[in-house]
Amino acid sequence: MDDGMRQYRQALDAAHRHALEWLESVAERPIRPELDVDGILARLERTLPEDGADAAAVVEELAEASAPGLMAMGSPRFYGFVIGGTYPAALAADWLVSAWDQNTGSRQPTPATAAVEEVAAAWLVELLGLPPRSGVGFATGATSANLSCLVVGRDAALRARGFDPVADVAQAPRVRFLAGGAVHTSVVLAGRIAGLGAPTAVGADAEGRIDVAGLERALGASDAPTVVALQAGDVHSGAFDDFTSAIAVARAAGAWIHVDGAFGLWAAASPRLDHLTAGLADADSWATDAHKTLNVPYDCGVAIVRDEAAMTASLGAHAAYLPAVASVSDPYDRVAELSRRARGVPVWAALRSLGRRGVVDLVDGLVDAATALAAGFRTVPGLEVLNEVVFTQVCLAAEEDADTAALGEWLRSEGTVWASSSSWRGRTVVRFAVSNHATDAEAVRRTVDAVARGAAAIGIGGRPVS
Ligand SMILES: *Cc1c(COP(=O)(O)O)cnc(C)c1O
Repeated sequence: MDDGMRQYRQALDAAHRHALEWLESVAERPIRPELDVDGILARLERTLPEDGADAAAVVEELAEASAPGLMAMGSPRFYGFVIGGTYPAALAADWLVSAWDQNTGSRQPTPATAAVEEVAAAWLVELLGLPPRSGVGFATGATSANLSCLVVGRDAALRARGFDPVADVAQAPRVRFLAGGAVHTSVVLAGRIAGLGAPTAVGADAEGRIDVAGLERALGASDAPTVVALQAGDVHSGAFDDFTSAIAVARAAGAWIHVDGAFGLWAAASPRLDHLTAGLADADSWATDAHKTLNVPYDCGVAIVRDEAAMTASLGAHAAYLPAVASVSDPYDRVAELSRRARGVPVWAALRSLGRRGVVDLVDGLVDAATALAAGFRTVPGLEVLNEVVFTQVCLAAEEDADTAALGEWLRSEGTVWASSSSWRGRTVVRFAVSNHATDAEAVRRTVDAVARGAAAIGIGGRPVS
């Protein structure tokens, strides 16, 4: 074996060993890291070394320095942000993606990964009940998927008024951008990058669902070209907009209709959750994440546009040196980037290992766990669940904000459970987002137990237990 190959083998063996040690420990180790960023910085050599090191030694050094700063985000009792775990097949496929190192931006030079991604894209569209010939782009996350979709929507709204979005950019009217009041921060950012500005809020109900009457009034106030952003899955309540009514109103006004469904779009895979997603497929574009609900490793978002030609017209890149087949679009024609890893391959692996039934069970299982968490929390004196638990999100609060904040701190430092603190409807909340396939009945039981112990320790619902 030559030295180069020996280095690969030893480095990968070391990585394999550390990866398995991590995965074997993740369910039972304290979820919080032992050290903060400064603590890890103190363990790292900070000056750029003059001389290099052996590959396996580098891996050992990295693993050892990092170990105390790793958060057990893959724990079945990790509920922070909306993260999701990782399925074995998806993780292993992701390793192969790195080893193969195929730049999957253009189709023709990387036939294997391009084909696997095309199959994954078709499966996704079918599972989510979206129009079969939609264009699908694999992006880094829902933020960039939202961006891709909003750029397509902006251009299409201009084209519908007879403007060429490139040639007429100086004379073109401003495209109006409307959203509900509970729009995700990434949609605001994407709108700003797309030149739409931050969306005008048309109002939302207590759970964060867009106010359809408010949307109708806003649309009626001007006949400017318009992009409307709807939401499948509010980060606090899990609520879904009323797509049937909102889309009817926006369609009548000639608007482009986008749906941010970073974690919630997956409800469309479950027949049991049809009531949440009714009408959703009538929008023009959808953004979602595979790294959240589908439990593939970071990172993978998905941009889906009903009119593939509109997608490639806005996002397509052209250069003499880029091989292209005239009759088919390339992966780089469907996202806001050119070179990229084959991040659709782990999506294929997750879907292949689950099958349709497995995806339905995954989504239903997350909802069942969230429902069971809420039921368990309601049995703890002094605590209440503030949201209607329709999907995977549970917002927990004590009567006093200070007690809720203390409960969040207690849980995160005790280590059995990790949930983020937030504020919602003017109250401090501890926010549980169920997004790991491994969150089972036992994880729920241990979570409710930890919350009850924390509440007792703080004195919520009675005197503190010393
Ligand atoms: C997470 C999230 C996003 C952003 O997704 P990233 O993958 O973090 O880029 C957008 N919208 C909603 C509702 C989200 O939960």
